[in-house]
Amino acid sequence: MEIVRTIEALQEAKQRQQGSIGFVPTMGALHEGHLSLIRQARAENEVVIVSIFVNPTQFLEGEDLDAYPRREAADAKICDVAGVDVLFMPTIDQMYESDELCIGAPAKRGYTLEGAKRPGHFDGMLQIVMKLLNLTGATRAYFGKKDAQQLALIQQMVRTYFLPVEIVPCPIVRDADGLALSSRNTYLDADERQRALCLSRSLKAATDLIASGTRDVTTIRTRMLEVLALADRVEYVAIVDRAFLPIETVEIGGTILLVAAWIGRPRLIDNVWL
Ligand code: AMP
Repeated sequence: MEIVRTIEALQEAKQRQQGSIGFVPTMGALHEGHLSLIRQARAENEVVIVSIFVNPTQFLEGEDLDAYPRREAADAKICDVAGVDVLFMPTIDQMYESDELCIGAPAKRGYTLEGAKRPGHFDGMLQIVMKLLNLTGATRAYFGKKDAQQLALIQQMVRTYFLPVEIVPCPIVRDADGLALSSRNTYLDADERQRALCLSRSLKAATDLIASGTRDVTTIRTRMLEVLALADRVEYVAIVDRAFLPIETVEIGGTILLVAAWIGRPRLIDNVWL
């Protein structure tokens, strides 16, 4: 595996490779969720590029940019063992200039839920993903459904700008007890780790209700909020269609249930696609 830190070195590394490129962008502190994306990229492409970049423009003032877990050496080893060909770990200077031209998240879909709670987050995310897709020349790029709105916005950006890349959505990877894997889970102490289960359990309670015939969104939200009483603060519980617009009645095949809640230090998110 080649580790490259500059755009020039990335271009040189790419010239030494041939064939379809599978790309997995990450912010590092790699876990099984990231690995599942890397494995799928490995299975479907001749070349696999992974990036690790804690992107400052998608963190809001007061968020955990400085504290975000950084584990370069361990991450590089994980990538190497997983058969990654090129690991791109650029510096901020490599990726940004001052007074940049910016891409904006769409007014509705980009400013609801995560976008409403973290205004500007998606603009920064789209900005960096656009750069990384162009730099890597990815044939396919792999994103987790864990970040449901992020995935949908990237798909929209690819449509809007006619980007020559296939976006591959990947299922959410969970611990055995149901907690969705996240780099931010490292912030949790033992008690918080236990309470963090209320996110996936609220989704399970909702899907149980739906399986037994309930379709009314208010009833389902009320049940989810009961389970989420263990959270320190619930930011949102949302039941939306595939465009992230609120609905009144659940439709199997077209609904996403989402939750965001604070447990101790981290703010965690989880969702289920019906
Ligand atoms: P991050 O490092 O948090 O920016 O995540 C990099 C990619 O990994 C994104 O596409 C995430 O959606 C994906 N990802 C993170 N956690 C999981 C998970 N538990 N299951 C599947 N994909 C995930």
